[in-house]
Amino acid sequence: MARRKTVYVDSDILVVGGGMGGCGATYESRYWGRDLKIVCVEKANIERSGAVAQGLYAINCYMGMQWDENQPEDHVRYARIDLMGLVREDLGYDIARHVDATVHKFEEWGLPLMRDPKTGRYQREGKWQIMIHGESYKPIVAEAARKAATEVYNRIMVTHLLMDKQRKRVAGAVGFNVRTGYFYVFRAKAVIVAAGGASHIFKPRAVGEGMGRTWYAPWSSASAYALPILVGAKMTQMENRIVLTRFKDGYGPVGAYFLHLKTYTQNAYGQEYESKWYDEIKGMVGNYVDQHPVPTCLRNHAFLRETAAGRGPIRMVTKEAFQDPHKETVGWENFLGMTVGQAVVWAAQNIDPKEINPELTTSEPYVMGSHATCSGAWASGPEDYAPAEYQWGYNRMMTVEGLFGAGDTIGGTAHKFSSGSFTEGRIAAKAAVKYVTEKGRDQPQVSEAEIADLRAEVFQPLEHYETYRNEIVAGTVSPSYILPIHALQRLEKIMDEYCGGISVNYMTNEPLLNRGLELLGMLKEDSSKIGAPDLHQLQRAWELKHRLLASECVTQHTLFRKETRWPGYYYRGDHPQLDDNDWHCFTLSQYDRDSGKWEMEKAPVYHIVT
Ligand SMILES: Cc1cc2nc3c(=O)[nH]c(=O)nc-3n(C[C@H](O)[C@H](O)[C@H](O)COP(=O)(O)OP(=O)(O)OC[C@H]3O[C@@H](n4cnc5c(N)ncnc54)[C@H](O)[C@@H]3O)c2cc1C
Repeated sequence: MARRKTVYVDSDILVVGGGMGGCGATYESRYWGRDLKIVCVEKANIERSGAVAQGLYAINCYMGMQWDENQPEDHVRYARIDLMGLVREDLGYDIARHVDATVHKFEEWGLPLMRDPKTGRYQREGKWQIMIHGESYKPIVAEAARKAATEVYNRIMVTHLLMDKQRKRVAGAVGFNVRTGYFYVFRAKAVIVAAGGASHIFKPRAVGEGMGRTWYAPWSSASAYALPILVGAKMTQMENRIVLTRFKDGYGPVGAYFLHLKTYTQNAYGQEYESKWYDEIKGMVGNYVDQHPVPTCLRNHAFLRETAAGRGPIRMVTKEAFQDPHKETVGWENFLGMTVGQAVVWAAQNIDPKEINPELTTSEPYVMGSHATCSGAWASGPEDYAPAEYQWGYNRMMTVEGLFGAGDTIGGTAHKFSSGSFTEGRIAAKAAVKYVTEKGRDQPQVSEAEIADLRAEVFQPLEHYETYRNEIVAGTVSPSYILPIHALQRLEKIMDEYCGGISVNYMTNEPLLNRGLELLGMLKEDSSKIGAPDLHQLQRAWELKHRLLASECVTQHTLFRKETRWPGYYYRGDHPQLDDNDWHCFTLSQYDRDSGKWEMEKAPVYHIVT
């Protein structure tokens, strides 16, 4: 342990996570902070890290204001409908008004955007989506961040944020290099967290050797939530997990199929089924079902009910569209540039979508803030647009001073996707530079004792394994430690069975949630005895700890909201109706790391856009 080197890095602005939000934040920090020291730290390598690692085939958030296709207000209305009324309209509007400029930059940097040959405009896939040749999307975006940063530190897993001595203001972060094992202390005047969403909180459909096959990136390990939660930042809408309808076994995306190829779904007997469930849904959620487009969760609900009625599998009707050679090409390319695994699954299972209508499935739940869902940190809004109650200083600053966020990290803002996450990184960076120049000019003081304590805590799983490994001579089950994979499987099982995962058809209630919290508490106790045989497993141990804290937060929020706001994402069996009288509000939580207790409260939803 004493052999381990400690490396100190001082900066003005520290960006944690170099995905879409983090690259946007790094790029923009340089634009506004010409002379500032800007450091980006990433647990993988920003060249191919995050949810966009493999590439994308569409940019899902583009207004097209230059051609008057959509205005920012239209996007706010769209997101509001899809999230059953509850979005931070100030934050959503702020992204929408800037997102086109971001996409234009991507094109300038070399990202090939498809164009409609007739109009010369970007090729639309749907009202908000434009099509790209996006296999190299991430390297292109990463290059801009690399050029802007003073330094990018790859392969460093951030485990904790640092607070200043008075515990009033964020002061940096600590972590370890997953290759060398060096301990890193990043001291900074402002920190922007952009560490992505959370997969593997709920048990996935694919287990055993296939468990890496999830829809959201398997390396999205909830650091975006755990890091701020641990320093007392308020979180919002953490109950609003997302369930995706996707092609079975490969999680291939369906957007291009529905929107561009005009395919549609039917039950096992070739029947349209969504309209059958209209009356039932109307009884649960009222007029929300009459909105256009029908909210994502409600479409899931019809899928789930039809399957439960014994008329599955639900299939995507591809046979008609795939007779057109152009559409057939687009259908395959869509996977090849984004989810190669789905093409491989089809090849392996003898599925030619020209001959067979492929099966769809609903995924396990994920926690994230940038898709058709809006879990994340509670953030201050833009000065010129946010209601007073949503403003406490700097845009995208959390409830902890000097701590900013972007992308999946920030709550209340659904449908930002890749372009919106990058844009939010830019917005957060501009505000963080302002904070550093106006208020945070002094380097915050960090206690050396806290750094020493964290260093001991970070490497404790290695020490623990070293101490107890000789208690067993074979196998992986020890009386004195659990391995990260065992703890992860236990976490996934608890969340699945008690908090509304796949095995209980997304159903939960108060007694289940309370029992789930007890079991999470026991797992938390045991997680202090995780054993890590090597640095790779040490990373897994810390990913597990982050997932566990985020899971506790999700469960607390699910317990607090006594209604079923998003049927199709999850159901409260004891409160099966949507209840606008009591719950047309945001849910907020705050964790106290000394007592281990959670405080819950409601915050108002302001409808700014008419
Ligand atoms: C399968 C799939 C399909 C999608 N399709 C589309 C689409 O078609 N169009 C579209 O526009 N968007 C799409 N998206 C959404 C888009 O990818 C996300 O909205 C966006 O990437 C979110 O940005 P982010 O910065 O919050 O997270 P990410 O881009 O995931 O970045 C998070 C970064 O943080 C790093 N990190 C995490 N934890 C730590 C830690 N503890 N220490 C250091 N670094 C850490 C990660 O390695 C990663 O680099 C899709 C996503 C997925 C998974």
